Amino acid sequence: MRRLLIAGNWKMNTTLESGRSLASAITAAVAVERDVVEVLLCPPFPYLMAVGSAIEGSGVELGGQNAWFEAPGAFTGETAVDMLEDLGCRYVILGHSERRHILGETDELINKKVSAALKRGLKVLFCVGELLSDREAGRTEAVLNRQMENGLSGIDAAVLESLVIAYEPVWAIGTGVTATPEQAESAQAHLRNWLCSRYNSKVGEKTRILYGGSVNPDNARAILGQPNVDGALVGNASLKAETFLPIVNVAIELSRPQGRE
Ligand code: PEP
Repeated sequence: MRRLLIAGNWKMNTTLESGRSLASAITAAVAVERDVVEVLLCPPFPYLMAVGSAIEGSGVELGGQNAWFEAPGAFTGETAVDMLEDLGCRYVILGHSERRHILGETDELINKKVSAALKRGLKVLFCVGELLSDREAGRTEAVLNRQMENGLSGIDAAVLESLVIAYEPVWAIGTGVTATPEQAESAQAHLRNWLCSRYNSKVGEKTRILYGGSVNPDNARAILGQPNVDGALVGNASLKAETFLPIVNVAIELSRPQGRE
């Protein structure tokens, strides 16, 4: 069975102090279960070091929310993959819809970032997802195909074990509107089939595909119970231990024998 991953994307939130206490509250509660479910925290860049210290030794992992694709050098305001690794990050989120749609990142730029991160050994949480207008026009699968094809262009099967896909329908991110479990399952089964045909069935079966979009303690069980949902990328609900921990606990329960087929 694919180990479930629950990732918290703090976006541009928290202060140094509130981030540190949030990380401590989370690690205090999940340290014992780290072999069952993977838990990842992605705080803003300036707080990576403090959050890294707060979670040290707990098994909870640290990730960045973005990275630049070039080696360290003259790129004012950017953060290199090497720097994230230096701070103890094991993951980086790339292709998030806020970067695609607010900051104008293209599939081509995202591809350079994915490629650079994987080459340097950083695991990538690669986000894809359709706009509401795409869904309403019946273009969901075509959009996912395009984002996968372009975003993973030139990426070899050999590095795919460091890749996690996050299906995040744009209309469900930060809106309180969640995809139904059936909508998530259908899109994610499609993504797995895509991986099987573009790479091979071993890659398709092994690669984890998370769902992201208004996951909360009330809907986590139905979503995480879907066969092609291997975890969640959580935004708003990751900003409070009271809402993040119940999602982690659902994942732990579902990971027990017979918890999830
Ligand atoms: C996200 O930021 O990736 C996300 C899914 O946010 P939210 O859970 O708030 O919808």
